[in-house]
Amino acid sequence: MVKTDTVAIKVQKTTNSRIKELDYNHITFGKLFSDHMFYTDFKNNEWTDATIMPYGPIPMSPATSALHYGQAIFEGMKAYKNDKGEVFLFRPLDNHKRINISAERMAMATIPQDIFMEGLTQLIHLDRDWVPDTDGSSLYIRPFIIGTDEFIGVRPSDNYRFYIITSPAGKYYNEPVKVLVETNYIRAVEGGVGYVKASGNYGRSLFPAKLAQQRGYHQIIWTDARNHRYLEESGTMNLMFVIDDVLITPPLGDTILAGITRDSVLTLARDWKMKVQERKISIDEVLDAHKRGTLEDAFGTGTAATIAYIAQIGYEGKDYVLPPVEGRIFSNRVAQELDNIRKGKVEDIHNWMYKVG
Ligand SMILES: *Cc1c(COP(=O)(O)O)cnc(C)c1O
Repeated sequence: MVKTDTVAIKVQKTTNSRIKELDYNHITFGKLFSDHMFYTDFKNNEWTDATIMPYGPIPMSPATSALHYGQAIFEGMKAYKNDKGEVFLFRPLDNHKRINISAERMAMATIPQDIFMEGLTQLIHLDRDWVPDTDGSSLYIRPFIIGTDEFIGVRPSDNYRFYIITSPAGKYYNEPVKVLVETNYIRAVEGGVGYVKASGNYGRSLFPAKLAQQRGYHQIIWTDARNHRYLEESGTMNLMFVIDDVLITPPLGDTILAGITRDSVLTLARDWKMKVQERKISIDEVLDAHKRGTLEDAFGTGTAATIAYIAQIGYEGKDYVLPPVEGRIFSNRVAQELDNIRKGKVEDIHNWMYKVG
């Protein structure tokens, strides 16, 4: 459990709130940041100086190691406000576990649960007016850790800084996406860092994504690095199919990020007694199901959109059109159920919601 009396956080409140800049009905994602941020420094082998202060630029040396060698990891999560104005986080302890899995693989300092949770909850509580309560909206939360040694030799940094910044997010319009099955570039390979939320994974994905966009696709479906046959993830989301009433998703491993939305969707499917398979799925199998008319649903899962419906799949110069989104039973039901859980409209039987304040 989280001990609330062991982490002392110095709080410097802003005297100049920017909350008036927030138009709750027209929120653009990721551009406006809440009044405060949290940080703590790792030095001499311990985390110290936990501080909440006004959001603002971070002074740093041009030799800061993260800028050169990429010891930079992050998390993405959301806070929601229910009808009573109470603020809840969705499965924050899972984000804490995951940031430490990332830290270990990147040879970085891990962050203790009490510091992570106390920094997070105090920050969100202080900036609770920034959590929008309009339909489908939330406060996006971005925890991250960077190596901060002022040193440009290649070795793990001795010093780190953990930050949390937050940004209001409006209703996400789940426009169905056209995806391209990528058979040249790769996102991840066995032995690599695909299962880690490392900044570099995103940097490397932008060029192939840009090429796909130039060809009229929204996103890439990544395939396995060896044969480009097995489907792995869709952009920066986990990937799921419903074929013949069975929910199929690639199994966790080195090349798949263990999405919290992925796990939540699988859990609800199992609650509903749906058949679930975590196994490899090839492009041939998907196209064969498409041909036979048994491909009922395809979608990505992730914190930003929850569910991103796949409308069309491009592969080797041909486009395959999937059934209309309105008629998709599973993805619509699961998207609605997750929304209801987050807004407190149905019982939270898995204890996913974590109350702030
Ligand atoms: C963050 C991320 C996801 C989704 O994870 P959630 O916990 O569901 O938000 C999926 N794939 C990749 C590559 C990611 O970085």
